[in-house]
Amino acid sequence: MSEVCVRVAVRIRPLLPKEVLHNHQVCVRVVPDTAQVMLGSDRLFNFDHAFGPTAIQDEVYESCVQPLVESLIDGYNATVFCYGQTGSGKTYTLGGGKLDEEGGLIDRVAQDVFLLLGEKRKISDGVEVTVRVSYMELYREELRDLLELHTIHKELHIREDERGNTVVVGAKEMVVSSAEELLSVLETGNAVRHTGTTGMNEHSSRSHAILTLQLIQCCHNNNSSLKSARSSKLCLVDLAGSERAGKTGNTGIRLKESVHINTGLLALGNVIRALSDPGRNRRGNSCNTAHIPYRDAKITRLLRDSLGGTAHTLMVACVSPSHHSVAETLSVLQFASKAR
Ligand code: ADP
Ligand code: MG
Repeated sequence: MSEVCVRVAVRIRPLLPKEVLHNHQVCVRVVPDTAQVMLGSDRLFNFDHAFGPTAIQDEVYESCVQPLVESLIDGYNATVFCYGQTGSGKTYTLGGGKLDEEGGLIDRVAQDVFLLLGEKRKISDGVEVTVRVSYMELYREELRDLLELHTIHKELHIREDERGNTVVVGAKEMVVSSAEELLSVLETGNAVRHTGTTGMNEHSSRSHAILTLQLIQCCHNNNSSLKSARSSKLCLVDLAGSERAGKTGNTGIRLKESVHINTGLLALGNVIRALSDPGRNRRGNSCNTAHIPYRDAKITRLLRDSLGGTAHTLMVACVSPSHHSVAETLSVLQFASKAR
């Protein structure tokens, strides 16, 4: 892959049937045959990829995420996150649980990882691969394990090991050996995520969900002694609704939530901006992580070893086409275009 470590894609979802029914107008479009998006009639934004309402799931996957899966197999880390207001298509884009045309990025990643690993095993003797999954949620700057129902109320702590890898102490990791198994782990986690909340969108708009696939590839000699081992991971992140950030007028628990979401999304924006700073690339140390403000929030601390360095990052900014969302869409497009 190229030197570029941060890429930004925009996806505009179609108007939903109820929006059509209520006569919502489309206020944002992809400029044909470009990666540009036009909001209204005069605000133009540039991205690495732009997908309109007719883009299918596979198109988004093939052009943006498949290369990251290939580099994961080659031993590199990567992060994909979906950013946008609640109802803009983040969860639809990430998917999880459908191994058909409707399947989203997670479903396609799950399939391709095992497909590519199967091919690799055929051509390279003595390689043994383990795929581990963890699934966590960050809510009000507290990290929780979605794969451990009985410890869901216990906060997890983030540490860094001597090689600079992020380690979440005590987080459950499940070994999976097929796409189906991986998706069933995800389903278990989503069930835990729902407990105690009134609805998925209600809760997911206030928390970040982080799915991590870790690949451990061990290479053995003929006498079956270990020759080398390498680990790489891919994080797939469904971020809290961007409309929650900077929301004023809230009080009590809602105020606390928006303060934390604001901190997290701002920190993420700052890290990504620092990583894609052209000055940094010009100095010939592209993706150098020396002065990146990772420590400002839990989300950036957690993703530290998968953002920057030799890792590849993809942000998918999701937007609704409806004129009712024009203000939020403008702020998402500004955030996303500043990230590259
Ligand atoms: P978010 O996770 O950002 O809150 P959702 O993924 O739940 O948003 O999407 C909101 C609604 O829009 C859902 O009903 C979803 O099925 C629909 N939707 C989102 N993106 C698309 C798309 N590209 N094509 C068709 N329907 C979509
Ligand atoms: Mg969602």
